[in-house]
Amino acid sequence: MMNRDEVIETAEKYYLPVFGRQKLVLDHGKGCHVWDKNGKEYIDFLAGIAVNSLGYAHPAQVKAITEQAGKLVHCSNIFYTEIQAQAVKLTCEVSGMDRVFFANSGAEANEGALKLARKYGTSKDAKKFRIISAKMSFHGRTMATLTATGQPHYQEGYAPLPAGYEYVEYGNIDALTQMMDENVCGVLLEPIQGEGGVHVPPRDYLAKVRELCDKYDAVLIFDEIQTGVGRTGVWFEYMNVGVKPDVLTFAKGIGGGFPVSGFAVTEKFAHVFNPGDHGGTFGGNALAMADVYATLSAIKAENLVNNAKEKGQYFKEQLEKLAVKYPEKIYEVRGRGLILGIETTKPAAPILDSCLEEGIIVNVTVGNVVRLVPPLVVTKEDIDKVVKALDNAFAKF
Ligand SMILES: *Cc1c(COP(=O)(O)O)cnc(C)c1O
Repeated sequence: MMNRDEVIETAEKYYLPVFGRQKLVLDHGKGCHVWDKNGKEYIDFLAGIAVNSLGYAHPAQVKAITEQAGKLVHCSNIFYTEIQAQAVKLTCEVSGMDRVFFANSGAEANEGALKLARKYGTSKDAKKFRIISAKMSFHGRTMATLTATGQPHYQEGYAPLPAGYEYVEYGNIDALTQMMDENVCGVLLEPIQGEGGVHVPPRDYLAKVRELCDKYDAVLIFDEIQTGVGRTGVWFEYMNVGVKPDVLTFAKGIGGGFPVSGFAVTEKFAHVFNPGDHGGTFGGNALAMADVYATLSAIKAENLVNNAKEKGQYFKEQLEKLAVKYPEKIYEVRGRGLILGIETTKPAAPILDSCLEEGIIVNVTVGNVVRLVPPLVVTKEDIDKVVKALDNAFAKF
């Protein structure tokens, strides 16, 4: 057994120093609450970065994982499993898409979607390889996805980057119109930018992007890795805006904490990849599929998509009251459902620290946006406690 300090010391010594971490050693959780090694309780409104959709230790998820682990964890996609068949069918049902491919991380899902767009484009014309993504986007840390990520600091030191990637101002349809031509094979966008600071685009933006992609026969990819699986009050945010992508990527919320991701396509793009063109050893393994099936089933059975919508609305109203109360400290409250951001007028780290002292876990992205992405099972009581902690934090800020 290690004590708290030994845990931190040992991890600091042996893990590559790539993360800036809170000095908090977490031990176990239940619902929206998590306990550290010393038994202190926290309300967790980060949820593993928008991952733990069912909160911690949801009985249905625990049961599905443990039972499947006792039967078969992995057997390769050389074979079929019943649980994979059930999971892919349910994923298509809730996403409104026709076919799905499973992988293991968000970056890997986007990597596959980008490959699909490239293959689709270059099969028509060798020059049709341009991929456009947005400034301030985040799509992952593999070579292709960090290149697609429109924030230069993720790319520093990794040149030469893959060719054919370009960036457009998010939400600006005129800028995209100017860049589009028949050599664009894919447009990759988050329907709400998450890491970039919780930016919701103008109302008709994505519909116009859709029109441009249709006009130039470019694959429209929505990265719903952060927005997807109920978080915005619909199964996928594209349903809120009424604009269907050709390819939809998902990860974070779909496994409720288990590392699993994938992308789904409409029938038109079902045969861009032929056998051997794309794959992966672990994607779609039985354990991941049991977890996905249990997570999606629980979201459905407990009506958590609607809970995200209702609680999200309530939460946003409370945050907007704070914005009125602290106009010189809060620039804006943004977001939809349970992905909300408070943009502050100066670096927001003290807000995070103050909340943590009160036993509340929140997160700051891009330096001055407090990001709130609680589990979909969140209750009004916990929202009220978090709002109170934020109020106290802003009073001192
Ligand atoms: C987190 C995230 C990714 C990357 O997912 P990983 O699992 O960390 O590779 C990609 N896109 C968006 C929108 C994300 O929020």
